[in-house]
Amino acid sequence: MAADRDFHHLLRDSALRVTKPRLAVLTAVHSHPHADTDAIIRATREELPDVSHQAVYDVLRALTDAGLLRRIQPAGSVARYEARVGDNHHHVVCRSCGAIEDVDCATGAAPCLHPSDHHGFAVDEAEVVYWGLCPDCSAASSEPATTSRG
Ligand SMILES: [Zn+2]
Ligand SMILES: [Zn+2]
Ligand SMILES: [Zn+2]
Repeated sequence: MAADRDFHHLLRDSALRVTKPRLAVLTAVHSHPHADTDAIIRATREELPDVSHQAVYDVLRALTDAGLLRRIQPAGSVARYEARVGDNHHHVVCRSCGAIEDVDCATGAAPCLHPSDHHGFAVDEAEVVYWGLCPDCSAASSEPATTSRG
């Protein structure tokens, strides 16, 4: 499988040993962007039924430290992982159900917002999260209310 060979290269380029758990976790995160740890464990076990929780945690940490995965944690959410790294993309998060989608950065490079006063800091990143309701939740919330107000 071509993707599998690419993952071999990704690991080697990052000076990481190629192991079955690392390949399985990479595959799981690639096919389930923004999944939380529990979902990644389930997806990893489809390929590697005997892998332990701890092994998946360790692999997620190693791959994130190596820059092969990006860890995001919107306020009120558990940590989530994605394989889209190295760009400055942002996320739109549903306040109601927690759905997450990628949003390309309008300027492409960090920091894409510049503070009105940088207080002498060398600012290299602005953390941007767009919050709102996903299409499903906004459709549900615009349905006629069952209780009358007022
Ligand atoms: Zn939603
Ligand atoms: Zn993303
Ligand atoms: Zn941006």
